[in-house]
Amino acid sequence: MDLGEGLRKAIARLKGSTIIDSKTIKEFNKELQKTLLSADVDVKLVLELTKRIEDAALHEEVPPGISHKDFIISKVYEELVRLMGKKYEPELKPKRILLLGIYGSGKTTTAAKLAKFYQDRGFSTGLICCDVSRPAAYEQLETLAKQANVAFFGIKGEHDAAKIAKAGLEALKYKKVIICDSSGRNTLDEELIKELKSVANAFKPDEKFLVINADIGQVASKQAKEFDQAVKIDGVIVTKLDGSGKGGGALSAVAAANSRVTFIGTGEKLNALELYDPNKFVGRLLGIPDIEGLVSTIQEAIKEANIKPEEVNIEELNFETFYTQLKAMSKMGPIKNMLSMLGLADTPKEVIEQSEAKMKKYKAIISSMTPEERKDEKLMHDAGRIKRVAKGSGTTEKDVRELLSDFAKMKKLLSAFQNDRNLRGLASKFKGLNLPNQ
Ligand code: GDP
Ligand code: MG
Repeated sequence: MDLGEGLRKAIARLKGSTIIDSKTIKEFNKELQKTLLSADVDVKLVLELTKRIEDAALHEEVPPGISHKDFIISKVYEELVRLMGKKYEPELKPKRILLLGIYGSGKTTTAAKLAKFYQDRGFSTGLICCDVSRPAAYEQLETLAKQANVAFFGIKGEHDAAKIAKAGLEALKYKKVIICDSSGRNTLDEELIKELKSVANAFKPDEKFLVINADIGQVASKQAKEFDQAVKIDGVIVTKLDGSGKGGGALSAVAAANSRVTFIGTGEKLNALELYDPNKFVGRLLGIPDIEGLVSTIQEAIKEANIKPEEVNIEELNFETFYTQLKAMSKMGPIKNMLSMLGLADTPKEVIEQSEAKMKKYKAIISSMTPEERKDEKLMHDAGRIKRVAKGSGTTEKDVRELLSDFAKMKKLLSAFQNDRNLRGLASKFKGLNLPNQ
């Protein structure tokens, strides 16, 4: 069972339990521990994580509008994100990058992936082969450079890696981003340290990244520390996350070693490289759909329904504008389901799923209001007025109160639509999870 499956199962069981008490929480934590340990996460980190979840679940106050279960699940999400380290955002500027790592970790493939990454972002890019220990290293990188459509430099038969690095810098001096692949060994030994130091001296990299295979799991911590001590690294690239059951262990171990994951490799192809984002990683594990994708789908639907949230002054939203917006929103059919999944206590679904009959009722209620009331919603927060309007429109007081409550929800929804950040926040409540906005 992989990490994601284990986590999803534990959460599903928690959701299915009828009462949440210390026993349920302990059982839930046990399952969490089991699945994290099987992904090779360090036992100390696992225990700390489940302790914090237990403390929050038993002692922290559950915020209004969210169930105890959802609160616990949001804590699990938060803790997992914290366990997996920080999001990486590279400076997009001309630079030199040196890749290091032991045999088979994915250095050469990653060098080409990185070259493509920068080339795709508008930087002319070149690759240098400074792997002088593997016989076919030159050909491998040359082929990959062709595939990535970037420049390549190497000197066949040359054993002095520093010499190649120097000549490479000269040959590729018009390239904005230069990436250097280096030799590996079975372990980091004295000889390799010496070679890497001399390459680094000649190449003068802005960034030195250790490349590791996700399959080494928590050993990543030791490796990151050793390489850092030997040659000082700026971060780690974790490859082969696509096929490893120990990815969680490797990523968390890098964070625990006070290093950082920068990119992750998720396949053999050159486009299978992603900037590391623990939110996204954990979201995927827990089966939460991509928030960014969700946000853009909602934006499309808003456009299609011709709702113009940016033209509504939310502070001045009144019953007249409310009616127009409501009518537009009732056309948002295709995203109804999606929005319903977004909701917590104030499910926006209720606002847009207005039946014809209800729309008619609302129209009658609004026309029974005085012009002042129509323009100032606050006036309607008055039992006397509610009674009068209900009577005048042939509806009930309950109907009028419902309209008032929909009005409040609409206001919230519109303000969420009005800016991306809010929409993201709304979207992040997907399935009741309170995802932190990093
Ligand atoms: P190096 O010895 O460190 O240079 O490692 P290579 O770049 O030659 O990679 C070793 C093997 O791992 C190759 O067969 C690559 O195709 C494969 N590989 C590298 N990165 C990934 C990845 O992210 N996912 C998968 N599935 N395979 C990868
Ligand atoms: Mg290689």
